[in-house]
Amino acid sequence: MPNEEKQTAAGDGLRVGVFICDCGLNIAGSVDTQAVTDYAATLPRVVCAVRNRYTCADPGQNEIKAAIREHNLNRVVVASCSPLMHEPTFRACIASEGLNPYLLEMANLREHCSWVHGGDKDGATAKAKDLVKSAAARAARLQAREETSMPVTQAALVVGGGVAGIQASLDLAGAGYQVYLVDKEPSIGGIMARLDKTFPTMDCAI
Ligand code: SF4
Repeated sequence: MPNEEKQTAAGDGLRVGVFICDCGLNIAGSVDTQAVTDYAATLPRVVCAVRNRYTCADPGQNEIKAAIREHNLNRVVVASCSPLMHEPTFRACIASEGLNPYLLEMANLREHCSWVHGGDKDGATAKAKDLVKSAAARAARLQAREETSMPVTQAALVVGGGVAGIQASLDLAGAGYQVYLVDKEPSIGGIMARLDKTFPTMDCAI
């Protein structure tokens, strides 16, 4: 079924663009990215599927921007690396074309697929298709979000007065925050409070 007909059949106005990154051979060396791109084009609501050599580079981002304009996309899926690395990059990219930056979904084809299935191209490609299918389905459920700022109480609650809680409290206090340290016991110290001596100095634990 042609993509435009699929879109009409979906009837919810969602127009998803999917961008599959080769990352040079980082992904394309272990995943058949063209096969994943061809598969992505068959998914519900996907009106455009593009394979990029380096999606985060300017040419790759320009392809996303051009596709948003050409296909009137309102959801974008980038199948590339960890969102930790480039989610802000792609949010800014789609925002520059007037899309809400939270209408972006990512599939991690590198850390979660190509890098861990290097010796199994068929298996990695099948998994990459599943990751893209999942991301496209999630994209259909995304809602636009607006960022707001609000004041927060400049204080911290630390639960547990063991060594970790005490140290966290000291660090927070040292950073200038009011700290409330609570413990279920009447005194702090946790396990350490029950020890007579501690290695290597054999000092009293408290
Ligand atoms: S978007 Fe990620 S996976 Fe693609 S080229 Fe850039 S670093 Fe590599």
